Amino acid sequence: MKKLVPDLICESVFTIDLKRLKQENIRGLLVDIDNTLVPWGKPEIEEAFVAWVRRVKEEGFKICLVSNAKKERAQNIATLLGIPAVGLALKPLGRSFRRGMNLLGLAAHEVAVIGDQLFTDVLGGNRLGIWTILINPISKNELDSTKFMRRLEAKILQKMVKRGQLKAEHVKIRQGRD
Ligand SMILES: [Mg+2]
Repeated sequence: MKKLVPDLICESVFTIDLKRLKQENIRGLLVDIDNTLVPWGKPEIEEAFVAWVRRVKEEGFKICLVSNAKKERAQNIATLLGIPAVGLALKPLGRSFRRGMNLLGLAAHEVAVIGDQLFTDVLGGNRLGIWTILINPISKNELDSTKFMRRLEAKILQKMVKRGQLKAEHVKIRQGRD
């Protein structure tokens, strides 16, 4: 269960405090695609998210996409953003996160994982000792299996509050949309 606790919960990528990340000595971001940067099932990334990636790069962060989506989808979005990508990542397996870190030339303590799912993004990152940021999924339009996982995620997050592993107000950010 400890491996499922995110270090930070944010409404979206837009509300991630980049200064805070710098204080944590984080220099690179391993970012999920579906429902983190692009609504699930949509082919294109919206301009606001392109602008966010641009701002993150201007702030001096290196950034790599790590996605369970097909390689072609991950690569198309990465090319548009001018950043590297690891597609067909099979998160939470560690391999793809390690590849992402290699592409950025950074170690686990220098990167953060950003994603919308506890069992792929947060679990995968935590297992490698990477800082993890859980955000709300952009869209409610998801696979039925993911919807099932959402209910499970909500229960687990509540349990983390009871155990004092997360603050209720932070989990509320997440529950607000589920
Ligand atoms: Mg996702």
